[in-house]
Parts: sequence; structure tokens; C-alpha cells
Amino acid sequence: MMHVPMTIGAMMEHAEKFFPKKLVHSQTHDKLHSLTYKQIGERVRRLMSVFAELGAKKGDKIGTLAWNHHRHLETYFAAPGMHAVLHTINIRLTPEHIIYIINHAEDKILLIDEDILPLVELIKDELTTVEAFIVMTDKQELPDSSLHPLYSYEELLSTGDAAFPFTKEIDENDPAGMCYTSATTGKPKGVTYSHRGIVLHSLALGLADSAALSESDVSMPVVPQFHVNAWGTPFACTWFGSTQVLPGPHFTPKRLASFIEKFRVTISAGVPTIWIGLLQELESGDYDTSSLRAVLCGGSAAPFGLIRAFEEKFNIPFYHAYGATETTPLATISRLKSYQQGLSQEEKIKERSRQGILVPGLEMKVKGKTGDIAWDDQEMGELLLRGNWIASEYYKDDRSDQAFHDGWFHTGDVVTVDEEGTIKIVDRTKDLIKSGGEWISSVEIENAIMSHPDVLEASVIAIPDPKWQERPIACVVLKDGIKEEGTKEKLLSFLEPQFAKYWLPDDILFLKNIPKTSVGKFLKRQLREEVKTYYQL
Ligand code: ADP
Repeated sequence: MMHVPMTIGAMMEHAEKFFPKKLVHSQTHDKLHSLTYKQIGERVRRLMSVFAELGAKKGDKIGTLAWNHHRHLETYFAAPGMHAVLHTINIRLTPEHIIYIINHAEDKILLIDEDILPLVELIKDELTTVEAFIVMTDKQELPDSSLHPLYSYEELLSTGDAAFPFTKEIDENDPAGMCYTSATTGKPKGVTYSHRGIVLHSLALGLADSAALSESDVSMPVVPQFHVNAWGTPFACTWFGSTQVLPGPHFTPKRLASFIEKFRVTISAGVPTIWIGLLQELESGDYDTSSLRAVLCGGSAAPFGLIRAFEEKFNIPFYHAYGATETTPLATISRLKSYQQGLSQEEKIKERSRQGILVPGLEMKVKGKTGDIAWDDQEMGELLLRGNWIASEYYKDDRSDQAFHDGWFHTGDVVTVDEEGTIKIVDRTKDLIKSGGEWISSVEIENAIMSHPDVLEASVIAIPDPKWQERPIACVVLKDGIKEEGTKEKLLSFLEPQFAKYWLPDDILFLKNIPKTSVGKFLKRQLREEVKTYYQL
């Protein structure tokens, strides 16, 4: 059969040709834009010519420090489209990590949102490879800035070549994109995505039993475009001709809820904290969410109570998925099998709260203490993955061997597997609580606590214990108006029938909020420090 290289440019060309009238709605600082794929395609071509004019060549890294909007989407296609590499930078990392990432990737051009300019001005003297800065602004005139040389995105585009061709001679294994993991320990690690990996991953997002993205969708990615390519949805949705709604900078649950209603959003993707926020908004307002066919939730375990609230109160199907920066990210998704449709509502939610089964195209293996684990839903082991959209190494990093060896990516996630291959993430290897030689899953206790109606958020961590080595402590944020008094006892007796005695937290601490990572996950490292200080350990 023919061998035709799979390239990102071809995805955009497809949208231009076959979906010229379909729209991308994009909120920027100053206004709401609506552009067709024909217009977006032309702007992508102009942008490619601008990059070429600025000296970008095959393999050069083009960095972005930007929110979810159409200019960011255009860069998604323009950088790989002319054989350069899109490097999305997590704007919420510390300045030290951002400097490290930009220098380590050797970014040549940086595209920056207006509100992020001050951050880049602060670190500009430390950047060793950047030759040009472009501000992604609606305004024609340049803002006052110490960055040099600084260009205006729209100004550059107006001089660009609207017929600039996508590069055809691309090896599909060449890098198209890069993203660094948000470092929970040590320096961030870079992952490179090939053209082939992104194209195949996009196909996987379109499978009927996966996210089923299609032309008829109106997709609103809430997961940032600076984090694992907004889970790949902008690539897939453009290729498939879906309508896209990009919620822009500093969005609030109110904006998300009103966009769902206004644009009749059918699918949206984000981490659980986003959905917890949206849920509160939906409960307090009067929004029409009937267009939503699914919310796609991943990044950390979706609490049982959250799934129940979406499905029962708002009739919004909840797709729980699992992946990582290293897996582009979609690896598993929890969709009920045809013969599970008859399960009770309770069983259905329980099933959905697992991370689901492997997406076709990937392979898995689970290593326990003594070899491959039994698929008995009991034995725990580390999940290993391989496949065409799984990274094979970290970019120029001598820590690669720790995670990539024997042809597998060692995820660092501990799972159990049932007899039909459905995985349940029990914990991350580093968060698992080791008590008296037994393992306790912090995630399961968290989920149980978060299913209590008085609780907004809960995070369970280990503290050192002289007798048991480690013991679990629960940190809980109560919903507005719930008193702390008596609640600890209430929560403990709620947990008691659900767990073995030694799993029950030794204490429950009530907090105003739980520290979060740059992508909205519970920051357990910081929480552990705070709790240790509290107990003077
Ligand atoms: P970081 O490693 O900095 O958190 P990633 O976004 O790459 O950045 O995170 C991937 C990790 O997130 C996975 O290895 C896993 O621990 C966790 N994760 C992702 N999806 C889920 C999920 N549905 N349930 C539980 N944990 C998840």
C-alpha cells in the first residue's frame, strides 16, 4: 500500500478544503472573535511565512506563552506546518522553570499573550536563544515593553503571504510539538511529539468509543493549550471540522457556563477542579446545558460525587479518561460497554469512576511486586504503556532511563485491573501510603470523602509514623455554610463502613483551600509540608 507521511499541515489543509464555513469562536483579552476554517487556514499560511521571514527553519522551536484562543490555535498549525516545532510553555510554572524550559528547548521565537509580557520582561536577560518576541494582541500598536525585537502578531500577519504552502517534505517521525511536564520534583522534563504521533492520537480521539469527536461537535477545551496540547483536541477538532470554542484568558466558571449555553457546546475537556467549579456555577445559576453530550475529565481521578452530580443533576454524561504528558495524552477512557447499560445507576457511576480501558492502538502491562499482576481488581502494580503516541524518551535528559526502558513507558501510576482490563488508578507511586507493610490508596479515600455532600474538596496524604511508617491524614475543604464542628466525626463514621480499619485517616484537617499545581491538580508535596508543620513533625 501507499505510504503517505502523516503531517499536521495536511490536517489544516483538510479543514480549509472541506469545512471552509465552520467556525472557531475565540475569546481574547478585548473581544470575542469568530473565524471560519478558511480564514484560519489563510492566517496559518501567513504566519508560516512570517516565521520563515524571521529565520525559522526545519526543527527550530517556536515557543508559546498563551491561553486558549485562535492565535494560539493558528500557531499549533503554523509551526509544524513549516517543519518547525511548536513548544507550548506552561505559563503557571515558576520563572526559574520557564527560563530553564525555554533555554533547554532552545526556543528561537516566542509568541506571548499581552498579560504574560511582564513575566517575560522579568526573565528576558536569562533567555539565551530567543531571537524574536511576538505579542499576541488584538491591538495594532505595540504595547510598551522592554522586549526586543518585539513584533505585533496582527501587524506581522498583515504583511504575510496568504498562499504560503505547507511543507510537503516532512518525515512523519520528525518533531511537531513539545511540552514539558509540570515538575513536581526536580526540573521539568521535555516530551517531543512527532507528526505521526499527533495524527494517530487525533484519530484515536475520534473513535466512537473514545471521545467520538466529530464534525457535529462544538468543542470547548478548558484544559489549557499550554498543557499537553489541550489534550490534542484542537488538532483533532480542526481536522474533523468541529466547531471550536476557545475560552481565552482568565476564564471563570461563569464564562464557561455561559459559553456552553451561548454556543451550544457539545463536549468540553478539563481536570476535575474545573468541573467542581463549573458544578457550583451550574447549581447557583440558571443555565441551559442541554447541548452537552459529554464532559471529558482527566488529569487526576474524577471523584465519584462529581460524576454523580453531572449525570444525575444535569444529565451530562461524564467521560473519565487517563493519560500523561508522555502519552499525548489519551491512554484509557471509561465508557460503558453495551452490556453494562443495564447496570444500576450506582454501579454505572462506580464503573465510570474507574479510568476505563486502553484506547485501541496502545498496549499495556502492569508490573507488581513479583512480575505481571493478576487481572483480579485486587493486586496492585505499576502501569506500563507502549504505542505510537507514547513518548520514547525525555528530550535531552539523562533522567530518560528511569521512565523509559525495555520498550515501555513506566508511568509511575499504580493500578488494579479487573478481569475485562478496566484499570483503576490507585495512586501515583510516590503518593501511595505505606502503612505497616500494606499499601493504602490516597485516591480512594479522597474519592469517598468527596462523595459526602458537605465536602467540596479533599486530599489525603501520608505523614511519617514511628510505628506504622506512614499514616493517612485527610485535608478537607467544606462547602460554603458547613460548620467544622462535629463534621470530622460525621465524615469518619461515613468512611468507616467503606474501608478496612487501617485505611481510615488518623485525622481530618479542615482547610480553606488545597494547594494546587500549575494545572489544577492537588499539590500533595506542598500539602505534606504544611501538614508536617502543623503537627510539628
Ligand atoms: P504531571 O505529571 O506534572 O501531573 P501530567 O499532566 O503529565 O503532569 O500528569 C499525568 C499524571 O496525572 C498521570 O501519570 C496520573 O498520575 C495522573 N492522572 C491523569 N489522569 C488521571 C485520572 N483520570 N485519574 C487519576 N490520575 C490521573
